[in-house]
Amino acid sequence: MLPEFTPITNLTIQQAQKEIATLQTDLLQYGVAYYEKDAPMVEDHIYDALYARLVALEAKFPDFITPESPTQNVGGKNVKTDLAKVQHPAPMLSLGDVFSIEELDEWDLRTSKSLGFKSEYNLELKIDGLAVALKYENGVLIQASTRGNGLIGEDVTANVKTIKSIPQTLNEPITIEVRGEIYMPKTSFATLNLQREADGLEAFANPRNAAAGSLRQLDTRITKQRELSAFIYYTAEPEKIGVTTQSSALQRFSELGLPTDKHNVVIKNMSEIKKFISEYTIKRDKLSYGIDGVVVKVNQLDMQVELGNTVKIPRWAIAYKFPPEEALTVVHDIEWTVGRTGAVTPTAVMTPVQLAGTTVKRASLHNPDYLLAKDIRIGDTVTLHKAGDIIPEIGQVILDKRPENSEIYQIPMDCPACNSKLVHLEGEVALRCINPFCSAQIKEKLTHFASRNAMNIDGMGPRVVSQLLKAEYIKDVASIYRLDIDQLLTLDKFKEKSATNLIQAIENSKRNSLERLVFGLGIRMVGSKAARLVAEQFKTLSAIAQASKDDIAKVDGIGEMIAKSIVQYFSMPESKQLIQELADQNVNQKYLSDVTVDENSFFYGKRIVLTGKLEINSRPVVTKWLENHGAKVSSSVSAKTDLLIAGIDSGSKLDKAKSLGVTVWTEQNLVEAQAKEGNDK
Ligand code: NAD
Repeated sequence: MLPEFTPITNLTIQQAQKEIATLQTDLLQYGVAYYEKDAPMVEDHIYDALYARLVALEAKFPDFITPESPTQNVGGKNVKTDLAKVQHPAPMLSLGDVFSIEELDEWDLRTSKSLGFKSEYNLELKIDGLAVALKYENGVLIQASTRGNGLIGEDVTANVKTIKSIPQTLNEPITIEVRGEIYMPKTSFATLNLQREADGLEAFANPRNAAAGSLRQLDTRITKQRELSAFIYYTAEPEKIGVTTQSSALQRFSELGLPTDKHNVVIKNMSEIKKFISEYTIKRDKLSYGIDGVVVKVNQLDMQVELGNTVKIPRWAIAYKFPPEEALTVVHDIEWTVGRTGAVTPTAVMTPVQLAGTTVKRASLHNPDYLLAKDIRIGDTVTLHKAGDIIPEIGQVILDKRPENSEIYQIPMDCPACNSKLVHLEGEVALRCINPFCSAQIKEKLTHFASRNAMNIDGMGPRVVSQLLKAEYIKDVASIYRLDIDQLLTLDKFKEKSATNLIQAIENSKRNSLERLVFGLGIRMVGSKAARLVAEQFKTLSAIAQASKDDIAKVDGIGEMIAKSIVQYFSMPESKQLIQELADQNVNQKYLSDVTVDENSFFYGKRIVLTGKLEINSRPVVTKWLENHGAKVSSSVSAKTDLLIAGIDSGSKLDKAKSLGVTVWTEQNLVEAQAKEGNDK
């Protein structure tokens, strides 16, 4: 909660000195948690408000500014890291920020006054990620580093090389340093946090911390699994690419093969900035990546040089930060659900409220430590926001509104499903039910096995799984393959047709390629991507089951922890028995092909043509992705074409598609549709 600030003019010098010292210490501590541990202690808007107060106090009482003050340093004060250090050729700065249109107008006035004329501005989205510097020598990527404290960053070259959207080679053999933002797309962020919750690990607070935590890894394989992406927006050496404006620099980056965000516009007056801000305040929910504001940059690069920088920020740019989208609501209940790995997770159930375009009534509380640290109680009024524009999250409790008789929430000791004692396993934040016969875990495991990205047994959702368990027709995944029509017909709502369809879907699933089975088994830490990587490598289930931890960890993209978990799973006698039973039922245990086409995909069976220059992903990557989702990618447009994806500078194919009434998408439309299909690329 923010303290009530005394008006600065009412403060004595001693009071001001004390408040400045406290703010400096607190903000430094928050900075260490945020920048070095990627685990913030307070919400961003609280940090921002305290920081703004410190700036105002230090402006009035400059004698109390210390070199250690957070206002004098970019990022964390020190770069404490196990990664090698990199000295930046020119400092990597932060951005000044404003939180209202009035402050933005003041910045515009100051800038125009310093320049002596009204400048053109280039408006860009403020990507919610972390800054990175990339060095290319003769067109080849030779070094990547984080911002660190602005002067010294961390060497993340090996990790950055795993990010598909960052080219290893530019389209021209030039030597240049470029800078930009590494980010985690919203869907990857949501999937990662779900997986971390199931694995008993701390969830990331927002996509920026998730991206930073994923990039600042000693183990490159972890970065590779995390599906990061990037946008480039700056070079300190514009002469090397022959540009004189920020907007043309973005265009040149794109020509060089670097990923850039295409939403920028050049504007001449402030009313256009306001329009842009309102537009993206609404549109931000629809983007596939998180943004936390709009960056306004003087467009002419020589004018940027003329305005220069302070020790921390450029004077030629400013970030307008979106206000936190918050709603107030009341917590009515805290539900505990048992996941398929036994993690028991609390969820707050609240009075439904409208938040950033959707009605929200539930928010994960992740684990008991999180719940207790926020001291959330039944009956509490809380603030609610969406982490990374996507996941509903409780900010804080409004203590003034706490009911008088409220009591500290008691964390359950027993499993809500099977009543066995819950435990905390070493190194985990989650509470866990370790009873292998827990009914909730069995239900979740079976539902997962049948789910779309696993064995894809159509018609076997959670409700049907519950019915089958209740009737004792199934008890584990092998027993699914022993079901018959007569049994199904005894269940509520099952008729001849639905029963036949389900039996057929079960039969079809026997022919799935190995990766679906490996994912379906629900091995801890093994998501669909890891399952595909091991299946591709080992080809049969028995080869995976016999592989050593070292052999599995050698697979590109698989880390030590996943390898350990796989070995542990296959060492259990129950797993060996299950695999034998599945084999007895003729469930395929071989890797079948490079491609497992998902017939439910929007793209399945569609004829698609690509044209123009694609900016976000390369053409071969897009083509392979579409083919993997069952599309036929052809080179010419005809009346049979279902969809044309038009990149930059699309010519005759676009005209022809329009004349034939073929649906036309931008590359951004495609990226958004890909996000909807999930991360199973
Ligand atoms: P910032 O994130 O406010 O802005 C600067 C950064 O914006 C740049 O370094 C760059 O990485 C990024 N950026 C994104 N899109 C850009 C674009 N198009 N052009 C240029 N830059 C772009 O500043 P910061 O110094 O990185 O971090 C300060 C912010 O971090 C605070 O305002 C606060 O919100 C957050 N923070 C929070 C805590 C906490 O405890 N919650 C602690 C420290 C910092």
